[in-house]
Amino acid sequence: MQLANQIAIVTGASRGLGRAIAWSLAGQGATVVAAARSLDKLAGLADEARKAELPGSVVPRVLDVTDRAAAEAFVDAVAEEFKKIDILVNNAGITRDSLLMNMEDQQFDEVIAANLKSVFWLTRAASRYMVRSRYGRIVNIASVSGMVGNAGQSNYAASKAGVIGFSKSVAKELARRNITCNVIAPGFIATDMTDVLSDKIKEEYKQIIPCRRFGEPKDVAAAAAFFASPAAAYVTGQVLAVDGGMTM
Ligand code: NAP
Repeated sequence: MQLANQIAIVTGASRGLGRAIAWSLAGQGATVVAAARSLDKLAGLADEARKAELPGSVVPRVLDVTDRAAAEAFVDAVAEEFKKIDILVNNAGITRDSLLMNMEDQQFDEVIAANLKSVFWLTRAASRYMVRSRYGRIVNIASVSGMVGNAGQSNYAASKAGVIGFSKSVAKELARRNITCNVIAPGFIATDMTDVLSDKIKEEYKQIIPCRRFGEPKDVAAAAAFFASPAAAYVTGQVLAVDGGMTM
């Protein structure tokens, strides 16, 4: 119950890592405002959390993070309804993979908007409330692609490297206000995002992962729960790879 009475926002919570992170924070007692582009899966998550009698709760909300006005209004509405924002987890993200020579402007722009600009908009808006309450935990989900690059993902790697640089700068700006900003860089985690890979590619990747398996969403959720907790007060500007040892 480390997060009792805390208000958390988790974007991209309808499935995959965001869903597991929302579940984990609600499991620690937080009220989790879980956002995605449609309500149906989020409502299912809220129901499951109720049935499981988690100490916290999941509040489903629609948000397309690529819509700046909607993102800002969303943060204001959460602060208005719940009176504060303690935790922001910027998790929503997409891929539009292509080799550089074939990459269209639209593929590049869509990934930057969903993965990087959204993080700027939501963090800027939420930080205003965190500064007022002199408390905040910002957790941004990047990727090992943003640390070491990945062929076919120049757009995605650029967006995630951007998230890392952005987060370190925010960490430096806000540390004295008791607000931390940390990054998780997942490797290969079994979600819809990686399910599209062929079995052959999956096997090849497993050979370069020292743990010899893909991670599970709960592996990332455990790291997010730590960064989001009061216990992580003296940890900021860090990038934690949750990748089975792949990039060590
Ligand atoms: P996923 O299964 O594809 O889920 C993506 C989530 O983001 C969904 O909840 C989706 O919700 C939401 N989303 C996408 N575009 C959105 C938008 N414009 N507005 C609001 N929500 C949006 O992906 P995942 O594997 O869980 O990935 C989560 C994060 O981890 C991403 O940032 C991803 O880049 C990062 N990551 C994943 C892996 C991995 O191996 N899985 C590795 C490294 C990093 P709706 O479609 O319902 O709106």
